[in-house]
Amino acid sequence: MTRDLTVSVDAGLCLGSGVCVASAPDVFHLVGGVVAVREDADTSDDVLIEEVAGCCPTEAISIRRD
Ligand code: SF4
Repeated sequence: MTRDLTVSVDAGLCLGSGVCVASAPDVFHLVGGVVAVREDADTSDDVLIEEVAGCCPTEAISIRRD
């Protein structure tokens, strides 16, 4: 069963290196030196997003399935 993916970034944990932005520019962008999830984020590629979240050094990226 496919469920909607909700992605969020804890700005307090983000280092602002932009690694996730480089890997998934349709989902993340840099705002004021920290990463945020785009308003129009394309969350259809859950495998990619899970991989990117797993590579975040501070575990700032959270994924929820509704
Ligand atoms: S990978 Fe994590 S710490 Fe690095 S920019 Fe993205 S959210 Fe921030």
